[in-house]
Amino acid sequence: MAETKRDYYEVLGVDKSVSDEDLKKAYRKLAKKYHPDANPDNRAEAEKNFKEVNEAYEVLSDPQKRKMYDQFGHSGPNGYSSDFSGFSGFDGFSGFSGFGGAGGFDVDLGDIFSSFFGGGSRSRRSNGPQRGNDIKVSVNISFKEAVFGTKKQVKVTRKEQCPTCNGSGAKPGTSTETCKACNGSGQIRTVRNTILGSMQTTRVCDNCAGSGKVISSPCTECKGTGSVRKVRTVTFNIPAGIDNGMIIPIRGEGEPGIRGGASGDLYITVNVSQDNIFSRKGDNIYETVHVSFAMATLGGKIKIQTLEGEEGYDLPSGTQSGTVFTLRNRGIKNVNGNGTGNLNFTVIVDIPKRLSAEERQLVEKLAELSGESNYVSKKKGFFDF
Ligand SMILES: [Zn+2]
Ligand SMILES: [Zn+2]
Repeated sequence: MAETKRDYYEVLGVDKSVSDEDLKKAYRKLAKKYHPDANPDNRAEAEKNFKEVNEAYEVLSDPQKRKMYDQFGHSGPNGYSSDFSGFSGFDGFSGFSGFGGAGGFDVDLGDIFSSFFGGGSRSRRSNGPQRGNDIKVSVNISFKEAVFGTKKQVKVTRKEQCPTCNGSGAKPGTSTETCKACNGSGQIRTVRNTILGSMQTTRVCDNCAGSGKVISSPCTECKGTGSVRKVRTVTFNIPAGIDNGMIIPIRGEGEPGIRGGASGDLYITVNVSQDNIFSRKGDNIYETVHVSFAMATLGGKIKIQTLEGEEGYDLPSGTQSGTVFTLRNRGIKNVNGNGTGNLNFTVIVDIPKRLSAEERQLVEKLAELSGESNYVSKKKGFFDF
């Protein structure tokens, strides 16, 4: 993981804000350019580039993968806690797993691929291993929990191996039998003699639905399916600095695979509730601080809220309403460890709405000392040209 890997946006020569349409265009151009068959003199290099372009496109063309890539980069969310250790990030891509099969591309791209990979021998055996489905859930946390990180639990309903029959689907004490119709292969072969010679066709065995096994006395708990739906509690860490809408992937906590396939992943979308003091943009936080007219004029120590609690701040004399003060590196710690944001507070000067008789006298005195019966009259009026 230590090698430097090029940024996927850079690989495709596009901007971070690229639209799906432009992304596809950029990808097509590069895929054609680097196609190994189009570079017979430099095949190895072209193949390397071609793979790089495909990997970048595989990630960026998938909204969820793109979101995670924007959020975590190549390495994935490693290093926050042991809960993430299983997540291999994007370095672990096997390459083209997402392609082929069910209408992944347009025709011209399909052509490029089938020529590169020698054409579609990608048919899936119906009784082969299948990866389990991913599960998506969401969790609500407070602003504070997002800032400092927390540990949470989510309840996930997923299929689990039936404990009564250990997943076999057969009633305890009985056993599964090899399907007689297909001899356990899960497929039925038919040979037909035609004028072109004998032709062999294969279809999924309907006696055993492709599993190669039949159950004579099904398990009563799972009704012979071998799995039951169970609610499980998954505990996970939320890293400090996480923002609203970010996704935490937990590898292997999705639905279990079928016939020995890998489990799916669990994707947890984090919803952060609004805070009544701070608002947030990226890692910067913002707040509004009200001060009196006298304080703004004379200056002095005011109280502001920080993420760590209340603290004093020396307001300079003559502070105008709307002035923004910035405390550098007092914002939110970046979720990927890329520095810390700033705390910005806007000072709002409250002009008193009601004055006591004494206060009124003092303010009138102040106006008199400033030498103005009407402040506006000193400036050029709207109608004075
Ligand atoms: Zn069968
Ligand atoms: Zn069972």
